[in-house]
Amino acid sequence: MTDSPRIRRAPPPFRRCTVVSSELISPRLARITLAGEELDGLAIDEPAASVRLLIPAPGDDLVIPVWNGNEFLRPDGSRPIIRTLTPRNMDGDTLTVEIVLHADGAMSNWAASVQGGEQAAISGTGRGYTIDPTADGFLLTGDESAIPAISQLLESIPPQAAVRVIVEVADPDGRAPLPSHPGATVDWVELPTGAPPGDALVDAVEAAEIPDDWRVWAAGEAAAMFRLRKHLFETLGLERRHATVRGYWKHGRTGAGS
Ligand SMILES: Cc1cc2nc3c(=O)[nH]c(=O)nc-3n(C[C@H](O)[C@H](O)[C@H](O)COP(=O)(O)OP(=O)(O)OC[C@H]3O[C@@H](n4cnc5c(N)ncnc54)[C@H](O)[C@@H]3O)c2cc1C
Repeated sequence: MTDSPRIRRAPPPFRRCTVVSSELISPRLARITLAGEELDGLAIDEPAASVRLLIPAPGDDLVIPVWNGNEFLRPDGSRPIIRTLTPRNMDGDTLTVEIVLHADGAMSNWAASVQGGEQAAISGTGRGYTIDPTADGFLLTGDESAIPAISQLLESIPPQAAVRVIVEVADPDGRAPLPSHPGATVDWVELPTGAPPGDALVDAVEAAEIPDDWRVWAAGEAAAMFRLRKHLFETLGLERRHATVRGYWKHGRTGAGS
C-alpha cells in the first residue's frame, strides 16, 4: 500500500486588497484598514471568527499562492506569509483587523511599518462563536491576540448578561481600550518577566469564581489554553459545550495559528 498525500478541502480563495490606513490603538496593537472590490461580500456572521491574511515578503510583490491539496504555496514552491486574524469590522468593501506588535514575527513586523497603498489579500471567513442569548453570564479571557475577538464579543453579548473579562498583557503597554458593556468587569493581568505566556491568565482564571451556568470563551497561547482546559473541564467539571477554548499561537513557533 502506498502512502498518498493527505488532501484537504481548499480554504476560500484569497481576495486582493490594499492597505488604506494604519493606526495604533495602543502601543502594542495596530489597527489596519484594508479595502478593495474583491472584499465585497466577505461576511462576518458571528464574533470571534477568523480570516487568513496574506502579506508579501519584505521588499517583494504580493504573489497569490495556489492550494496544492494540503497547503498554499507560491508558484515557485516557496511558502507564502499567511497568518490568522480576527475580522474586527466589515463595512462594504472595507475590512479592519487589529494586530499585536509583539517581539518579532512577519505579520507583527509588517503591521508595525505598513503604509497606505501596500498590497495584501484575505481569505475567509472562518466560523465564529455562537453566543447563547439565554446565558446569565460569560467569562471572556485571553492574551493580547484575543483583544480583537473579546472586543467583538463585548459588542455582541446581550446587555442583561454579566461579563467578567480577564486579559493578560505581556507589557503594561498592551492594555487597549475595550468596548463598554453594562454588565462587564475587566481585569488586566500582567505576565511577569520570564514567565511562560498565559501563566498570569491561567492563575487569574483559577482564582476566579465561575458560576455553573456561565459560558466561557478563551483564546491565547496554545500551551496556556491546554492548562486552562484542564482547569475548566477536569478541576471544575464544566460542561464541554459551555466553554470554547482556542489556541491562537504557539510559543516559539512561526505561523502556528494559520
Ligand atoms: C482564530 C484566530 C484569530 C486570531 N486573531 C488575532 C488577531 O485578531 N490579532 C492578532 O494579533 N493575532 C491574532 N491571532 C494570532 C496570530 O495569528 C498569531 O499570533 C501569529 O502567529 C502572529 O504572526 P507573526 O507573524 O506576528 O508571528 P510568527 O511569525 O507566527 O511567530 C514568530 C514568533 O513570535 C511568537 N508569537 C506569535 N504570536 C505572538 C503573540 N501574539 N504574542 C507574543 N508572541 C507571539 C511565536 O511564538 C514565534 O516565536 C489569531 C489566531 C487565530 C487562530
